[in-house]
Amino acid sequence: MPREYELIARLARIIPAHTGLAPRARVPAGIGDDAAVLRPRAGYDWVVSTDALVEGAHFLSALHPADAVGFKALARASSDLAAMGAAPLYFLLTLSLPAAKTGAWLNKFAYGMARAARRFGMRLVGGDLSRHDAVCAAVTVIGEARRGLTLLRSGAGPGDVLFVSGRLGAAQAGLEWLKREGPRAAARRPLPLALRSHLYPEPRLALGRWLAQMKLATAAIDLSDGLSIDLPRFCSASGIGAVLHADAIPLGGRLPTRNNRERALGRALHGGEDYELLFSVPRRFASRIPPRFRGVPLTRIGEITPRRSEVLLEASGQTTTLRPLGWDHFRKDA
Ligand SMILES: [Mg+2]
Repeated sequence: MPREYELIARLARIIPAHTGLAPRARVPAGIGDDAAVLRPRAGYDWVVSTDALVEGAHFLSALHPADAVGFKALARASSDLAAMGAAPLYFLLTLSLPAAKTGAWLNKFAYGMARAARRFGMRLVGGDLSRHDAVCAAVTVIGEARRGLTLLRSGAGPGDVLFVSGRLGAAQAGLEWLKREGPRAAARRPLPLALRSHLYPEPRLALGRWLAQMKLATAAIDLSDGLSIDLPRFCSASGIGAVLHADAIPLGGRLPTRNNRERALGRALHGGEDYELLFSVPRRFASRIPPRFRGVPLTRIGEITPRRSEVLLEASGQTTTLRPLGWDHFRKDA
């Protein structure tokens, strides 16, 4: 196994990074000292989140390309910044991996993470490496938001309108496709939308910032575990309920085989990892939400109700309680 400092130097060479050798006004010390020193801008808050991508739980080495693992590790963590309306700035990487993956696998991982970092405008400022028999890539992201302008989960009120970005269920369709076809599915070019959504998700960073800066949204959450899990979280944080209109939910990710609407709706409700934004808007501002934001559809899918934590699904005239069948690590049958 190469020495740890060699691996760190390699990662910092491939991934956009702040190293101690080139201090900047806002990063007086980066990689290469005991810790990074970051200087917040006056009038801004730091927004910080962390997320771990774990081999066996979130990805399988036999199925998922290393560059997708690197890309997705940063994308997932950054999606939480999008949901808060924060601009991404820096990240730290805590990576555990087996010795056999410190060569070509690690390079591909780093190239995938570098692509995500450039795309989102982020720089690596530190981290830690260790040897372990399965890969665990834990990413801590730091973003900034103008003081008082962060989007929380807790601001939604009765009568607000619920919107969602993008199309739901695509990532789940991509995962099913990959499992059925094997790793060669990930090598398809151009990569079909469902596989792209699953392997290289696109956090809605620009949308989140726009919603926060325009003060249009009262609350927001990113859809990481599926609408049927994340909407109840959103409702309980705001102390309200919601009714979802099944027919309005934008469905994504057609499988190459024959598909029916019910399965697509199931993926949209319960499939995780879409990383779209779910947000509430006061009724009087609803008309100010455009049908698309920078090419991403924005769709009205329901309303907020005063019934605390009651989440209803209205489908072809029938209203039922939405069952939380999305992704939960600690559910017994997960
Ligand atoms: Mg989140």
